[in-house]
Amino acid sequence: MSDTPVVGHYIDGQVHTQGERSSPVFNPATGEVQAQVALASLQTVEQAVASARRAFPAWSEQSALRRSRVMFKFKELLDRHHQELAQIITREHGKVLSDAMGEVTRGIEIVEYACGAPSLLKTDFSDNIGGGIDNWNLRQPLGVCAGVTPFNFPVMVPLWMIPMALVTGNCFILKPSERDPSASLLMARLLTEAGLPDGVFNVVQGDKAAVDGLLQHPDIEAISFVGSTPIAEYIHQQASARGKRVQALGGAKNHMIVMPDADLDLAADALIGAAFGSAGERCMAISIAVAVGEVGDALIAKLLPRIDRLKVGNGMQGDSDMGPLVTAQHKAKVEGFIDQGVAQGAQLLVDGRQFKVPGAEQGFFVGATLFDGVTPQMSIYQEEIFGPVLGIVRVADFASAVALINAHEFGNGVSCFTRDGGVARAFARTIKVGMVGINVPIPVPMAWHSFGGWKRSLFGDHHAYGEEGMRFYSRYKSVMQRWPDSIAKGPEFSMPTAQ
Ligand code: NAD
Repeated sequence: MSDTPVVGHYIDGQVHTQGERSSPVFNPATGEVQAQVALASLQTVEQAVASARRAFPAWSEQSALRRSRVMFKFKELLDRHHQELAQIITREHGKVLSDAMGEVTRGIEIVEYACGAPSLLKTDFSDNIGGGIDNWNLRQPLGVCAGVTPFNFPVMVPLWMIPMALVTGNCFILKPSERDPSASLLMARLLTEAGLPDGVFNVVQGDKAAVDGLLQHPDIEAISFVGSTPIAEYIHQQASARGKRVQALGGAKNHMIVMPDADLDLAADALIGAAFGSAGERCMAISIAVAVGEVGDALIAKLLPRIDRLKVGNGMQGDSDMGPLVTAQHKAKVEGFIDQGVAQGAQLLVDGRQFKVPGAEQGFFVGATLFDGVTPQMSIYQEEIFGPVLGIVRVADFASAVALINAHEFGNGVSCFTRDGGVARAFARTIKVGMVGINVPIPVPMAWHSFGGWKRSLFGDHHAYGEEGMRFYSRYKSVMQRWPDSIAKGPEFSMPTAQ
């Protein structure tokens, strides 16, 4: 490796920079390589798993209260390092600093939720179900769990997993995205500072080789994955085939219905933020506006001046609304989708290709892009673009809008802007999507609810964090107890029933 800093692994409370291979970490706003990230070999994965396995017996025997005390301290430290974490995100991901600050806040909220572990792990007790027998439940840790996370939320998505896994008594290995790996190391350091014993949380940097190492390791009990759909499907299939518990959250294509009675200023503001915030690199970004009835032209008239006013630039510099895309490859992919949209007959109203930010010509910027006349047959409708590209599909009525969305292979987020309570209620009840907004463009559930899509946006049975997260990271056990002095009847051969 050269003189550039190396982002290493975190194993047993120490940073390790070994790795036969490495990969460049870019500053997307300037196009420069700012670090190299070590890519774990199978040996490094083995080291991390062995460390977690050693730490498990003592950690899993700690009381939930003691585990939650570590989370309290971790939360305090995250607050103290909030700005520093946000700066790391912006430097490696490219999103604007205010957005990165918001990302860290949403992650801290999960830590706050996990601080309630003693009551979250409290279970039911049935006294004297019959014959002097009591019945109660336990939620016990799984063992060593692993998480594989995407580039677009390098703090928030790991925090969907880490606090949930740790307070339930598991040890956890994080494999962050190799595109923006540095925040994981700061979080690891803060966990150690908060009093987490060495080995309970380890970080393995890497690519497919590290992920396959985790998938194939017999001592990994459960895998949480967040990323694109093809990889989510692969992870789900590989982990399930080995008997591991798995939740794999995948990609998205989120629609926003704009009804003729909607407040169009509100809808246009919502669309601009939800389509172009974080340069569209959010799994909850809105990429399709479904204009119902005659509303299309009026909506476009509201959108165009707002797009014109968007400030695109280096996210570290105060007043930008939108930063660059994460890598040059991703920029080329997004521009390729815009080419396809034009070739397939959509009407390009605003073209973000060839977009340059003065003074940052090598940055990976794509300008805000708007298509009208998008149809379900086009690739810009069917596929996740993950860039600042908004398409408008026009439909005749509400029923056609719902049918369109329900036919899409993804079902992560959706929104409907209307003033009609009846429409809103029907929308919430009939739409086949996991997270639903009514006059709310990005309906990301709070920490004590749970996050997850339907259809090809989630593989597995549990959504992330909240109650579903507590369930995912714990194993249910039901205990029936009778003390010997009450055993009087001798053996029974029929199915036990309450007496
Ligand atoms: P990605 O699928 O390329 O990578 C995700 C993780 O998988 C990374 O850690 C990466 O190193 C690893 N990985 C990549 N290729 C692999 C392979 N062949 N085998 C094993 N592991 C591999 O996703 P990304 O580009 O980092 O993130 C963007 C995607 O994540 C988008 O599709 C977005 O919708 C999705 N996402 C979904 C949610 C959700 O909650 N549903 C949240 C955030 C992001």
